[in-house]
Amino acid sequence: MKVETGIDGLAVGFDIPALPGMAEAEIVTPCLIVDLDALEKNLRRMAEFTRKAGIRLRPHGKMHKSADIARLQHAIGGANGICCQKASEAEAFVRAGISDVLVSNEVRNPVMIDRLARLAAEGARISICVDDPDNIGELSEAALRHSTVVDCLVEIDSGGHRCGVEPGEPAVTLARAIIAAPGLRFAGIQAYQGAMQHIIKHGERRAAAEKSIALVRHCLEAFAAAGVPCPTVTGGGTGSYPFEAASGVYTELQCGSYAFMDVDYGHIEDEEHCRVRCFDNALFLLTTIMSVTRPGVAICDAGLKVQSVDSGLPTVFGRDDVDYVAATDEHGRICDPHNLLRVGDRLKLVPGHCDPTCNLHDWYVGVRHGRVETVWPVTARGKSF
Ligand SMILES: *Cc1c(COP(=O)(O)O)cnc(C)c1O
Repeated sequence: MKVETGIDGLAVGFDIPALPGMAEAEIVTPCLIVDLDALEKNLRRMAEFTRKAGIRLRPHGKMHKSADIARLQHAIGGANGICCQKASEAEAFVRAGISDVLVSNEVRNPVMIDRLARLAAEGARISICVDDPDNIGELSEAALRHSTVVDCLVEIDSGGHRCGVEPGEPAVTLARAIIAAPGLRFAGIQAYQGAMQHIIKHGERRAAAEKSIALVRHCLEAFAAAGVPCPTVTGGGTGSYPFEAASGVYTELQCGSYAFMDVDYGHIEDEEHCRVRCFDNALFLLTTIMSVTRPGVAICDAGLKVQSVDSGLPTVFGRDDVDYVAATDEHGRICDPHNLLRVGDRLKLVPGHCDPTCNLHDWYVGVRHGRVETVWPVTARGKSF
């Protein structure tokens, strides 16, 4: 693994939290660190799963926003292209050399539609979701303007009630409009249900997934009845992917969080009511104790500006004697009932929710056996247009 972005000349503690070769103890905090062994293990496990299941994997890059990790997902993780959520994110990945990107979302801003078409014209394979006939016209015009072809998937609402048309006839109608539109190619359907990913009980999660899969099946019957071939059915996330893989109707999985994991995904259970153990925590928010002035409490340097707490507070990795109990802008409060922590002590926090946490950082520090092996930029950080 090589850092592709020249990082020489960057000042540790100002531009960047660490440089390759440093000891883990020298990393300036707060910062995100990636346990490279754990990351590679997670990628290999998903690769093995998808290979055995005979399903394609297009990992979601909205989680890590890193071209280096996307490359690793291709090199060892069985990936065929990646997903992202925003046109500017797609552009960041393409510029960094990832040439097959699905924007698993609708894009309606004319500037962003034009930028996407330009990426396709420059040689990337760009796919995009649509759920509105007007958008088909907009995309077709942009593709023609750049003399290129953009792949379009009809997004169906498989129970998430976010974007997407009703499965069945409305989806077929949109597909026909795509087929008729110059510059566009109908690639298939997307059916992703976000909320069910996080259902803790295995049986309940499976029931939700089966409901969603039944809607996909119903939709494919409508396509078959209409004689419209539907080559790709894409969807699935870290909580539901075994169900989509076993469904016989999905052709591609879009899991994202499996690469890093977080507290929230650490709670979901498998059939035996155990925590799902397939994937290890690979992402940590490294923090340092900066003040200990009262018994029972220690203050660390990681607060709200370096993590998202929308899914709950972080946990302290590998320790059950101390707890992260409150976050303010720049500080974290650690409950330390036995007064074990001293200024300068370091803790590895497992973020509550990985995706929005990663977007708050410029760098990932890749660590192995106590050494900084690599430092990766968060390539698409802030690319939310
Ligand atoms: C976020 C997202 C995913 C990935 O979900 P994880 O839970 O992170 O595995 C897949 N597809 C779509 C459309 C998403 O928005």
